[in-house]
Amino acid sequence: MSASSFLQEVAKRRTFAIISHPDAGKTTITEKVLLHGHAIQSAGTVKGRGSNQHAKSDWMEMEKERGISVTTSVMQFPYHDCLINLLDTPGHEDFSEDTYRTLTAVDSCLMVIDGGKGVEDRTRKLMEVTRLRTTPIITFINKLDRDIRDPMELLDEVEDELNIMCAPITWPIGSGKWFKGVYHLKNDEITLYQPGLGHTIQEVRTIKGLDNPELAEILDEKELADLRDELELVMGASNEFDQELFLAGELTPVYFGTALGNFGVDHVLDGFSQWAPAPQPRTTHEREVVASDEKFSGFVFKIQANMDPRHRDRIAFMRIVSGTYSQGMKMKHVRIGKTISISDAVTFMAGDRERAEEAVAGDIIGLHNHGTIQIGDTFTQGEDLKFSGIPNFAPELFRRIRLRDPLKQKQLLKGLVQLSEEGAVQLFRPLENNDLIVGAVGVLQFDVVVARLKSEYNVDAIYESVNVSTARWVYSEDAKKLDDFQRKVSLNLALDGGDNLTYIAPTMVNLNLTQERYPDIEFSKTREH
Ligand code: GDP
Repeated sequence: MSASSFLQEVAKRRTFAIISHPDAGKTTITEKVLLHGHAIQSAGTVKGRGSNQHAKSDWMEMEKERGISVTTSVMQFPYHDCLINLLDTPGHEDFSEDTYRTLTAVDSCLMVIDGGKGVEDRTRKLMEVTRLRTTPIITFINKLDRDIRDPMELLDEVEDELNIMCAPITWPIGSGKWFKGVYHLKNDEITLYQPGLGHTIQEVRTIKGLDNPELAEILDEKELADLRDELELVMGASNEFDQELFLAGELTPVYFGTALGNFGVDHVLDGFSQWAPAPQPRTTHEREVVASDEKFSGFVFKIQANMDPRHRDRIAFMRIVSGTYSQGMKMKHVRIGKTISISDAVTFMAGDRERAEEAVAGDIIGLHNHGTIQIGDTFTQGEDLKFSGIPNFAPELFRRIRLRDPLKQKQLLKGLVQLSEEGAVQLFRPLENNDLIVGAVGVLQFDVVVARLKSEYNVDAIYESVNVSTARWVYSEDAKKLDDFQRKVSLNLALDGGDNLTYIAPTMVNLNLTQERYPDIEFSKTREH
């Protein structure tokens, strides 16, 4: 690839993920995005993820399910002049630390909100994670084909609860049975909604200008006057879109529509191609790496095991930060100091796993992994770099793990340490007893661990409840104070899989009190690898 076409290719990339609360419409919107990207021919072809497919503990079933989810793990497709990389963020019972960590690998996010419900719990958490890096957010208020809450009130709620300014780009005309379409505030144009055409790319009719006589076909005089008043109010009271504030994660453009009706999704995609950033720089311990740097570099943010039951391989998902990957190239696995030749990375063009010939900064590739790759690993073309900002996240669910056959304690520990290095789960060993405590962000992770311990390490393990409800990594500059802290609260301290000191609290109240009592100790919700 010539230098100029390399730069053009990089500038085309838009790498983003969708954040939302379960059932807000992420899967539906993903499908419609793929439809617009011509990655599928008609909606309804992406495999369904009905509720009965979630939270299965049967290993084969889980593999099948993971087989489905991996093809949608990363989806690459063209849209207008852009090449979009959409990264899936597991959302229901398959919610896990991967969901959080995927957000470290994108350059922007689409936040989907159910217009009938407003800001929900999971969205709050995910927004918190996007703030570890300043991630620009585009917002879609979904389900306008149903009665939604007052749009102004929804924007206020987003602003107050998520601490981000809203700049409406489109504004809904009615909702539910009375949903007529949206008014585009920037283009001064009304796009009309037609129900029942959600499985296709619709021929939409647009009406230019609020004084256009054609509007009489859809709104009577009073409705039209009300709409004009409302829009005047909206434009007077809301923020204008500002690219700089958007890039700083302080302001989000807001669109309205219905994913099911495939209405408004194209507006959102236009927003991404126009405003969302091309591949962004990343920091390493050594220096900042920019996407236009011709030397290849990347980091691993997710490892997925057993995607194909016939091969039992693990795929390490790598975000390319700079340069070009080409098949057969050599790259340095910095942590272990070895140079390896990569001939069979996978890419995700149009939702299929294919052999990647070439990929550039902003793209995701999958490396076959036989246990030597860990979350957070850096690969380069020779330089010793270590990317930062790919942390572990404090788990929210804890269980004690125990063997059926006590003689296999060593195997169990080995398995747990390896699985925690891989990012499948986190392990905590209390300082004062011999318990092994497994911590997870999503409940399915527990089942995955027991199933993998059995199939890969041949140990039979079971869980018991444990009185831990939250964990924080603890640090202090002052060794004496840390020592004192360690002596006083040793009953609540544990070492994680990487031997880092962790405070494991029985309740949030206990954690808050301890934090107050020891102001010189830093309690962190994330830990860098
Ligand atoms: P996810 O859990 O966020 O992936 O949500 P899904 O895409 O699976 O959607 C959850 C439910 O909401 C499904 O029954 C969808 O058919 C429905 N849904 C999604 N978008 C819309 C919409 O625009 N209007 C209506 N009425 N239902 C929708």
